[in-house]
Amino acid sequence: MKALVFHEPERISVDDVAEPVPAAGEALVRVVAAAICHSDIRVYKGQKHARPGVIPGHEIAGVVESLGAGVEGVGVGDEVVVCPIIACGRCAFCLLGRRHRCLERQTLGYDEDGGLAEYLLAPATLVASGHLLPVPDRLPLQRACLTEPLACVLNSLETCNVGAGSSLAIIGGGPMGLLHLLLARALGAGVVIVSEPDEARAEVARRLGATAVLDPRRDDLAAAVKERTAGLGADAAIVTAGLAEVVGQSLDCVRPQGVVNLFAGFPPDTSVPFDPNVVHYKEIRLTGSQNASIDQYRRTLQLLPNLAEIEEVTTHRFPLAEATEAYHVRLRGEGLKSMVVMDA
Ligand SMILES: [Zn+2]
Ligand SMILES: [Zn+2]
Repeated sequence: MKALVFHEPERISVDDVAEPVPAAGEALVRVVAAAICHSDIRVYKGQKHARPGVIPGHEIAGVVESLGAGVEGVGVGDEVVVCPIIACGRCAFCLLGRRHRCLERQTLGYDEDGGLAEYLLAPATLVASGHLLPVPDRLPLQRACLTEPLACVLNSLETCNVGAGSSLAIIGGGPMGLLHLLLARALGAGVVIVSEPDEARAEVARRLGATAVLDPRRDDLAAAVKERTAGLGADAAIVTAGLAEVVGQSLDCVRPQGVVNLFAGFPPDTSVPFDPNVVHYKEIRLTGSQNASIDQYRRTLQLLPNLAEIEEVTTHRFPLAEATEAYHVRLRGEGLKSMVVMDA
């Protein structure tokens, strides 16, 4: 079969590799769509580790093609999305139901082969943990493919207690910033302010319902957020761009007892200067979030049929043979999210 292979930083290619055959407990998924994540780009740039020779891709939707012996709960022909986490099931975090924090966690697309291929072999532990999730009716697979990034965003928003009427500042209007905007809107948030210097992205943010889009090169972010939140500051600020200088800004954007979530990953060795007294006197909760619980995946899948606007975020689609180009548009900063669609 054809697959995209990560050889080493800055070297990927579409190769012919052996088509996997599912052993006991495993499932073979015919991939229909697999999207490129910013973290795949960070692996490409050498900022994040993946095993050389691995097939990347952890945002995956497809159809179950065949099953090894003894698989229960999924059937041949089922449309599924993949939670790419392989968890041990018995460490302290797994026992708390937080398999995304598993101490022995392995992840498809980094440690084991992922979805940028004609077929994905779902490991037995992943299948047994229920990490092949059934796609609801009325949900096209190309939209279902965004379950993984959107579940991460749900985790981020729930970490910040964003709900009906909440005010929110989103730092960065790239694909993940825009998914935060969309989902915050869907959860009933009130004022949602996006900070994004790129005019094309700012335009999408306005179209998707941002209360205001600020240009961080021109506008005083904290002052503009306060102006729109009765002088208080936002309930939460979420950093979706891994830039050291925006961390201090986001602390200034939230109200006393507000939450700042570092959703983005930062380049290695980043250090951030900020005034600890801002955290102390305002009693700010400074946190991070990454990935999502399986329950957040499940609920995200239930939301997606009613979230058609999310398709605006996928601006580029490529056939598997051109999967390297799906990386290169992201590296050039063109458009928003890129997706590999089989038979496209
Ligand atoms: Zn992702
Ligand atoms: Zn575990």
